[in-house]
Amino acid sequence: MKRFIVAIDQGTTSSRAILFSLSGKPVYSSQKEFRQYFPKDGWVEHNPNEIWNTTKKVLIDVINKSKRLKGKILTIGITNQRETTILWEKKTGKPIYNAIVWQDRRTAEFCKKFKTNNKEKIINRKTGLLIDPYFSGTKIKWILDNVPKAKKLAKNNNLLFGTVDTFLLWKLTKGKLHATDATNACRTMLFNISTNKWDKDILKSLKIPKNILPQVKDSSDDFGLTDKSIIGKSYPINGVVGDQQAATIGQSCFTKGSVKSTYGTGAFVLMNTGNKKIYSKNKLLTTICYRLNGKITYALEGSIFIAGAGIQWLRDKIKLISSAAETEKIVKSLKTNNGIYLVPAFTGLGAPYWNPNSRGIICGLTRDTSQKEIVRATLESVAYQSYDLFNAMKNDGLKPNLIKVDGGMVKNNWFSQFLSNVIDIKVVRPKVQETTALGAAFMAGLKIGVYKSLSDISKNWKIDRKFVPKISKSNRTKLLKGWQQAIRKTLI
Ligand code: ADP
Repeated sequence: MKRFIVAIDQGTTSSRAILFSLSGKPVYSSQKEFRQYFPKDGWVEHNPNEIWNTTKKVLIDVINKSKRLKGKILTIGITNQRETTILWEKKTGKPIYNAIVWQDRRTAEFCKKFKTNNKEKIINRKTGLLIDPYFSGTKIKWILDNVPKAKKLAKNNNLLFGTVDTFLLWKLTKGKLHATDATNACRTMLFNISTNKWDKDILKSLKIPKNILPQVKDSSDDFGLTDKSIIGKSYPINGVVGDQQAATIGQSCFTKGSVKSTYGTGAFVLMNTGNKKIYSKNKLLTTICYRLNGKITYALEGSIFIAGAGIQWLRDKIKLISSAAETEKIVKSLKTNNGIYLVPAFTGLGAPYWNPNSRGIICGLTRDTSQKEIVRATLESVAYQSYDLFNAMKNDGLKPNLIKVDGGMVKNNWFSQFLSNVIDIKVVRPKVQETTALGAAFMAGLKIGVYKSLSDISKNWKIDRKFVPKISKSNRTKLLKGWQQAIRKTLI
């Protein structure tokens, strides 16, 4: 009989479930998109019921597929969009407000005020994060302050908070478990990454009652059983891990100094820093990579807001291309970038700049500039932004000698090669690129003994292709000089 692990990958635009073989090969996957709500400028919401219904549908779909394959599902792992915040009534399970999505900026003003009195430094020491609307803490506060019945429900012990993993666990176990894992907890800005506990002082300063918070478990742990009434049978849930950390696990970045970089809509770089918390002097985040048997492994994280989203913009708004895949052929037809740079600061700049007011520019235009150069500059910009991140890491004393990449953009061989050229580091692409879902499956499998250890898991990682730097130092310096000039223009 075939044996499988199911990973639920609850993302920002869709819910997916993937059936994995025990060696980590995706056998079948099911995906359902759901609606994005933009009620006001800078606000982004999801309907928690749509998150749940789409998740339930894809899960049932893969379970039915496993039955058709005459296989057995051993366990389920969950990975999820991080930071997104849901509050619901304990007795009825009904959300009291829409999910406030990680991209939502409604608490920007509050965060600005909250930063005074050296607060950011204190928060950074405790949580590893910066004070920013991105994280859950101020989103919870917003719901408590703006939904009339929220405070009363909390007082009556009838209100629960969760990131998406917690909400799904609650639904899947039919209200038996209110829990999260450490990688999700550490993105709330309420979790102390040194004491491994919710931080009383931060809770107090944001007026968030502790009784609404979930229990924090390991990433590979006992997360209860799915209720029979939901998917016909009970299955154990044994893994929960936030999406970027899951990709780090899916890429087998288990040794200190190993790095993965995911190039999807945005790009996220995580470096495993072992049992050491590294506090960046260059605005990178200190985060929990995974927690196993109560022991934390830390990571340093940097994010780029616009990566593949720039390619989507070329396709959907500027209409220079009709598919993302076309970009490879277009850029290959040019020998150089002809001095054209594009800074895709469409929503401000992320690490290491963290400048919310920057906006995008294209510079170096001449009579000779064609659509090809603009396409090339958009692709190149993702490599230059990566350079800025790795340079920030280097300034923090950390220099990786190899980067494992994944995400939609790295299918583009030209991009993967150019990335290696610009960052001057070897880039490797794995065979299985569903690294996020795979990471959740690995955490679940680890708990039930399918894998004996992390090194046992890493035996399943297989290389697809390697890209080594192939340009001269002087050419790299010239390219980066042009980029730095362009960045300076957006920071003014
Ligand atoms: P997400 O998980 O964030 O939705 P994916 O990892 O699925 O993202 O990657 C999708 C992104 O990759 C899209 O933004 C798309 O524009 C980009 N992309 C896909 N194929 C290519 C390609 N061949 N070249 C460049 N970008 C690509």
